[in-house]
Amino acid sequence: MKINLGCLTDLGSHKSIKKQIELPDLINGYQEIETPFPLQINLDIYNTKDSFMLTGELTGRLLLTCSRCLDKFSFELKVSINEELLKSEIPDLENIDLTNIIVEHILLEIPMKTVCRGNCQGLCPLCGRNLNNVQCDCSREKIDPRLLKLKDFFSRDDD
Ligand SMILES: [Zn+2]
Ligand SMILES: [Zn+2]
Repeated sequence: MKINLGCLTDLGSHKSIKKQIELPDLINGYQEIETPFPLQINLDIYNTKDSFMLTGELTGRLLLTCSRCLDKFSFELKVSINEELLKSEIPDLENIDLTNIIVEHILLEIPMKTVCRGNCQGLCPLCGRNLNNVQCDCSREKIDPRLLKLKDFFSRDDD
């Protein structure tokens, strides 16, 4: 997303931007963040002495993958933006690219461990079925106890 601040030449001048933006899908480590819906950005921009101050909000919906059951789920995004762009670091006032700032704000908002719902049952470790949708007949008591410990370990910080 690019903005033009060429009109903000006077100290103290101000501009409001309300825009719908589309982003390509993002990758955060091993997490995939899909962006099938446009996001809404509302920004107030002020010309201060050495910089432009950007304050506002980014809202919208993302699609994330549950780390337990691997289903996709919708994630409500609502992020405050407070950024300062130093004038000395802006090569072209009429063509300022905010994409990196927007992406950074989104990535900070995504939890390390994405879960579709608090009580997600995950996948059966034996047959791989999604236990939110089906009860399989696998006798999970027969799992190697060392694996069970591992399972406890992975779900320790649930809820
Ligand atoms: Zn899930
Ligand atoms: Zn099973």
